[in-house]
Amino acid sequence: MIQYTDKHLTVFESQIYKTTSTIIETEDCVIVADPCLLPSEIGEIREHVVRVKGNRPLYLILTHSDWDHVVGAGAFPDATVIASAAFRSKKPEEILEPLRAFDDQYYIDRNWPVRYPDVDVAVAKDGERLIVGGTTLTFYEAKGHTDDGIFAIVEPLGIWIAGDYLSNVEFPFIGSSSKDYVETLKKTEMILSKHPINALIPGHGHIAFGKEEIMKRKNDGLLYIASLKQAVRANAEHDHLIAGYPYKRGLKACHEENVQFLMKELAKE
Ligand SMILES: [Zn+2]
Repeated sequence: MIQYTDKHLTVFESQIYKTTSTIIETEDCVIVADPCLLPSEIGEIREHVVRVKGNRPLYLILTHSDWDHVVGAGAFPDATVIASAAFRSKKPEEILEPLRAFDDQYYIDRNWPVRYPDVDVAVAKDGERLIVGGTTLTFYEAKGHTDDGIFAIVEPLGIWIAGDYLSNVEFPFIGSSSKDYVETLKKTEMILSKHPINALIPGHGHIAFGKEEIMKRKNDGLLYIASLKQAVRANAEHDHLIAGYPYKRGLKACHEENVQFLMKELAKE
């Protein structure tokens, strides 16, 4: 379904995990980010892109290598694929295995090939830019959830594609490093001061319009990480930290994974 649409921006929301797919139209190009997730949903997104594209070039941004974000890439074989340099060096079979497991669990057949995307433009450093006519894309490293994430800022529209950070339905899922995760969240002020942002699109959940909502999500994320670290160190109760989040039965497992992850990190300190 469509979560939001205006002249330049359309955000699709999957029925699975509220995963978002972003389509941005500018005078110079069409940008698709993380098209997902069910075959019918990817089909809808593809139809939308085919309908609006005209003769503009198509860019496909993949925010990170988790399977739910790369699953639809095969439906856009002609796009110029943008992802991080770290994304490029992942082992494709390790990424695709959980996707195949999901599809087998729910008897899902896909209309497009399931394959790990080849990256055409690899983002290697913070603040790297890609200029297409009057459209500027600026990329920042966004590690901590995975070690291969990127933020993409599209200007002059002021759209921030955030991947799996700054969600309003998920607390931080710490998959690669809690220190990196904190650093990534702390980039928020810098990004907001350099780029006038109108809308931030998280990988799961709802768009944040305006600075205040973005800062709230950043602070919620930092508080969760700091509080959970403290609780793990002190061997204290921590379930109250996810009291404010929905979908408890599902998210509790992710919270427990964070606990296990932080325990391993602490053991190394
Ligand atoms: Zn995700």
